[in-house]
Amino acid sequence: MKNVLVTGGAGYIGSHACKALKAAGFIPVTYDSLVTGWKDAVKFGPFEQGDLLDRAKLDSVFAQYEPVAVMHFAALSLVGECMQDPGLYWRNNVAGSLSLMEAAVAAGCLDFVFSSTCATYGDQDNVVLDEDSVQMPINAYGASKRAIEDMLRDFEVAHGLRHVIFRYFNVAGADPEGDVGEYHRPETHLVPLMLDAIDGKRDALTIFGTDYDTPDGTCIRDYVHVCDLVDAHILGLKWLREGKDSRVFNLGTGTGFSVREVLDESHAVTNRAVPYVEGPRRAGDCTKLVSGSQRAINELGWEPHRSNMKEMITDAWRWHQSGHYEG
Ligand code: UDP
Repeated sequence: MKNVLVTGGAGYIGSHACKALKAAGFIPVTYDSLVTGWKDAVKFGPFEQGDLLDRAKLDSVFAQYEPVAVMHFAALSLVGECMQDPGLYWRNNVAGSLSLMEAAVAAGCLDFVFSSTCATYGDQDNVVLDEDSVQMPINAYGASKRAIEDMLRDFEVAHGLRHVIFRYFNVAGADPEGDVGEYHRPETHLVPLMLDAIDGKRDALTIFGTDYDTPDGTCIRDYVHVCDLVDAHILGLKWLREGKDSRVFNLGTGTGFSVREVLDESHAVTNRAVPYVEGPRRAGDCTKLVSGSQRAINELGWEPHRSNMKEMITDAWRWHQSGHYEG
């Protein structure tokens, strides 16, 4: 059995990745500070609580588990928050990743799968983005992830740290078996907020901006099912273990949904209307983020077969009604 160090393994995407790693024959070793993650979500392998900036702790975890690779999910990822406190993002995401990469190199663990974001592209006037699109982030979150991508390239040249970078579009849905799901406190993401509003767990959803240059005036995003997303990570890990070159892959579907379209689909799936009000734009939001994922499909053999809006909301709704974490 082979250990893989999963930073952020107690979070939404990281916990789904741990389940997929275990199914693929690896042992996921979760390293998580529990600042935004949940101990209850660590179900598929050992858990080590620690901060990325705690280099001594990282060194001891690398020595104890001797992982064959790192999957690095741990990050702060909220557009609203990063506009108010950019220092938090540069310290936690950039300095934290630097500490992790230095510990990995020191331990001789040189295969690194990194969770980046479409927010590195910024607002690019209604183009469908691909991996060669220029990166012009408009918020500190996107800027912090772009900086980590740059560090990875430098670390490969200097230290041989080989990497696969995944630039995610919007992730939604949950494990259909209900072992793990999306649970943030505070919650800021569209789908869980909508489901909360539907069943009265919180007030009406606020649509952030109805005056964007899109057909219905609301922002357009490309939503990927979390299970499809983590499948790509397993393929990325195998790619590195087969000795292939470092590579960047977008993970999206090429289809955009406006906020109003997501609301309509939620109404259809749950058979309940989403209470909402129209509000002003949220600082840092791009008008439209949609990806081509042909590279992941062609080169990795990725098959995103669950990433239709109906299935994502159905799985999120099932989790929403039954699942949550206590600690
Ligand atoms: N959104 C919204 N109301 C909310 C939360 C999100 O209108 O309460 C919109 C947001 O402006 C964006 C889309 O929903 O266009 C997805 O936002 P989310 O925060 O889920 O993900 P992000 O795109 O920031 O990664």
